[in-house]
Amino acid sequence: MQVLETITSAFRGTFGETPTLIQSPGRVNLIGEHTDYNEGFVLPAAIDKAIYLAVGPRNDQKLHFVSADLNSTYQGSLTDIRRSGKGWANYLLGVIDQIQKEMSLPGGLNVVFGGTIPIGSGLSSSAALENGVAVALNHLYKLGMERVPMALLSQRAENQFVGVQCGIMDQFASMMGQEGQVIKLDCRSLEYAYAPLAMDGFRIVLCDSRVKHSLASTEYNTRREECEAGVAIVRASVGDQVRSLRDVTMDMLNRYVRDQEPLLYKRCAYVVLENQRLLNGVADLEAGNIEAFGQRMYESHEGLSKWYEVSCPELDILEDIARAHPGVLGARMMGGGFGGCTINLVREDALADFEAVVQREYLERTGQETLLHECRIEAGTHVV
Ligand code: ADP
Ligand code: MG
Repeated sequence: MQVLETITSAFRGTFGETPTLIQSPGRVNLIGEHTDYNEGFVLPAAIDKAIYLAVGPRNDQKLHFVSADLNSTYQGSLTDIRRSGKGWANYLLGVIDQIQKEMSLPGGLNVVFGGTIPIGSGLSSSAALENGVAVALNHLYKLGMERVPMALLSQRAENQFVGVQCGIMDQFASMMGQEGQVIKLDCRSLEYAYAPLAMDGFRIVLCDSRVKHSLASTEYNTRREECEAGVAIVRASVGDQVRSLRDVTMDMLNRYVRDQEPLLYKRCAYVVLENQRLLNGVADLEAGNIEAFGQRMYESHEGLSKWYEVSCPELDILEDIARAHPGVLGARMMGGGFGGCTINLVREDALADFEAVVQREYLERTGQETLLHECRIEAGTHVV
C-alpha cells in the first residue's frame, strides 16, 4: 500500500532504522445517532480507512513526530509536554500526557504517520490517531495496557488535552473493531457485544454532502438541553430512578410530555425510538436480515430529520436519492447533523450505477459536488 511505503521510507530516511507499523482505523456508525449522551446505544464499526504510523523507541527522552500528509514536523521532550501550536501534534502529545499520569515511560518516541481517512468528514481521524499512539507506546515499551482502557485513555486525551468534549464511541470503535462485525455499545455501562455485518455482496458507501452548517454546535447544545428538560418532566412524575432518556419509555412520554410539551416530546420520542430501532436492528443482523436492517436506517433518518430536526436540505436530498435507488438497502445521515456524510448500504452489483446517479442528481439538485467513499468493516487498531 502506498501510504505504508511512504511512511516506512520516510522513517528510515529520518531515523536510520526500520519502524514498527501500526494501523488504526476510522469508524462509521450504522444506527444510533444522538443516543450516546442520553446513555443509550450506538452501533459503530471500524473501517478500512485508517491512520498508519511508523514508530520506534528512543534511548533518550525526546519526541520526534512527522506528519507525512501535512509535511510538518514536531520535536519536543517527554519531560516538557504542553499544547503545541501545531494542532495535529496535540493528538499525539495528549496520549503521552495521559500515559504519564499513570506510569513513567522509559524513553521517547519517533513517529512518521499518514492516512487515508478523509479529515473532518465525521469518520474520526482524530480517534484513529490517538489510538495509534496509545497502541504504539503500549507495544514498544510493553506497558501492559488493555484495549478498553487504552480507548478511554485516548478519549481523555481528546477531552483534556485537545479540548474537544467527545463521547467514547469514536475511540471505542476504532480500538475494538473486528472484521465483518459491528459493535453494540451501551454508552451507560460500556458493556459491548458484536453483531455480524459481513460485507459479502454489498458495501458501505459514504456520501459527503460537502457542507457544514454553522448551526451544528448551537443546535447540538440545544438538543442536549431539550432531552434533559424532557427527563426532568418525567422524573417529576415517575420518580428519581429516572436519570436519563435510557430510563424513559414511550408510555411515560405519552402520559407526561406529549400534550404538555409537544416539542420536547418530539425530541425525546426520537431518542427512545432510536434505541429501540438499534436493538431491533441488532436482532435483524443476527438473523442475517440485512434488508430489514436497512429499512431501520431509513426510519432513523426520518426521525433525525423530522422529529429531532438535525438534518439539512443537502443530507435529506442524499437520503432521498438513495431511497429511490433499487440497489440501496438503507441510508441515513451519520453524525451530529447539519452537514457531513450519509451512510448507505449498497449492493455490490449496483455500486457503479448508484455512485453515478448520486453524483449527477446531487449536483443537479444542490449545485454542489458530492464526494463518495466506499468502505468495508475491518479490525481495530493493531500492529501490522
Ligand atoms: P474527525 O471527524 O476526522 O475526527 P477532527 O476535527 O476531530 O475530525 O480531527 C481532525 C484532526 O486530526 C485534524 O485537524 C488533524 O489535526 C488530525 N489529523 C487527522 N488525520 C490526520 C492526518 N492524516 N495527518 C495529520 N493530522 C491528522
Ligand atoms: Mg474527531
